[in-house]
Amino acid sequence: MNQRQRIYLDNQATTPTDPRVVEAMLPYFSGKFGNPHSDSHAFGAEASGAVEAARAQVAGLIGALPREIFFTSGATESNNIAIKGLASGRRNTRRHVVTCVTEHLCVLNSVLELDDQGFDVTYLPVDAEGMIDLDELRAAVTGDTLLVSVMAVQNEVGVIQPMAEIGAICRAAGACLHTDAAQAAGKIPLDVGEMNIDLLSISGHKLYGPMGVGALYKREDSGVRVAPIFSGGGQEQGVRPGTVPAPLAVGIGAACAIAAEEMAGEANRLRLLRDGLLRRITEAVPGIKLNGHGENRIAGNLNISVEGLPADAMMAAMPDIAVSSGSACSSAESESSHVLRSLGLTDEQAEGSLRIGLGRFTTAEETKIAGDRLIEAITQLRKRGAANSVAAE
Ligand SMILES: *Cc1c(COP(=O)(O)O)cnc(C)c1O
Repeated sequence: MNQRQRIYLDNQATTPTDPRVVEAMLPYFSGKFGNPHSDSHAFGAEASGAVEAARAQVAGLIGALPREIFFTSGATESNNIAIKGLASGRRNTRRHVVTCVTEHLCVLNSVLELDDQGFDVTYLPVDAEGMIDLDELRAAVTGDTLLVSVMAVQNEVGVIQPMAEIGAICRAAGACLHTDAAQAAGKIPLDVGEMNIDLLSISGHKLYGPMGVGALYKREDSGVRVAPIFSGGGQEQGVRPGTVPAPLAVGIGAACAIAAEEMAGEANRLRLLRDGLLRRITEAVPGIKLNGHGENRIAGNLNISVEGLPADAMMAAMPDIAVSSGSACSSAESESSHVLRSLGLTDEQAEGSLRIGLGRFTTAEETKIAGDRLIEAITQLRKRGAANSVAAE
């Protein structure tokens, strides 16, 4: 085995594009390059046909109708349109929004803008395992609640929220339910009908599709009015104007179709690898704490705090193993993760946390090597730490 082999275990930050997806996209760059909105000729019609087929593939993954799917540039944009677009949509008179403290920053910052505009905002806390309390949600939602935005799967700790129960509570109160499903789509079954979801955001590059494309689902029959946040030429039923990038749409469509087929088997395989890895680490070294729920989490996610060791020291000690400390989005900030602190971790525990994200292309061999390197890194760093503290006495 090559010592310098790099191992990618950061599949919650991004996933590689599946080669089958790349294959599906390639014809739409130079050969079938038409503008899908110029379908009065064969070039445009060809691209338009591919975009509509992709729309149906995205819809199929979540139990939606194709005309309820709008292509965007990613989950960040989908979340912005869902939240800000709903709030500025005409005929929306309700002035209260409910969200959760562990949401992605693009949701929290969108909600913050509504807060500035005079909306009342309730931030639901989570318990030590990262779950919201359904009774607290029930108590928070009133006749004035326009929107509840709760992520289906958390990006740092992988925790799965009970979307069907959340949906039932929102439906009973006449509130719209939006979910950021960037980490959920293609990883766990989602059904917008059964779960009473009105708005749902998907990211291409989190489900083995390309970067730079996403989708927004908007329920057709609920009278949900979403105003566009871009001014433009009326594409995507006016919800998201701008030329739909046909190759990228084909890519996210193919990714959704593959995920629908392979999700269950993939989850079983990853769960075995992930659980085996955690067992090995906890048996080999003391002071390992699992962050997030033991069972309610996606199969590929592991998040652990290692007692007494900062994450950056561990990552520096195993430079060929790509894992993440806290959330990638907040790693530019010196502050520890808002998510881990919401779960009640101390700053030291949060700073000692590693997110290990297994994915479709992670092998058993790679998982074993990564486990070996991590155990070795922890053992060495602790030995060095103990030697240093003896020397300091
Ligand atoms: C990655 C991610 C996003 C942002 O998605 P982009 O497509 O990169 O804009 C939003 N929410 C969650 C939970 C994510 O994991």
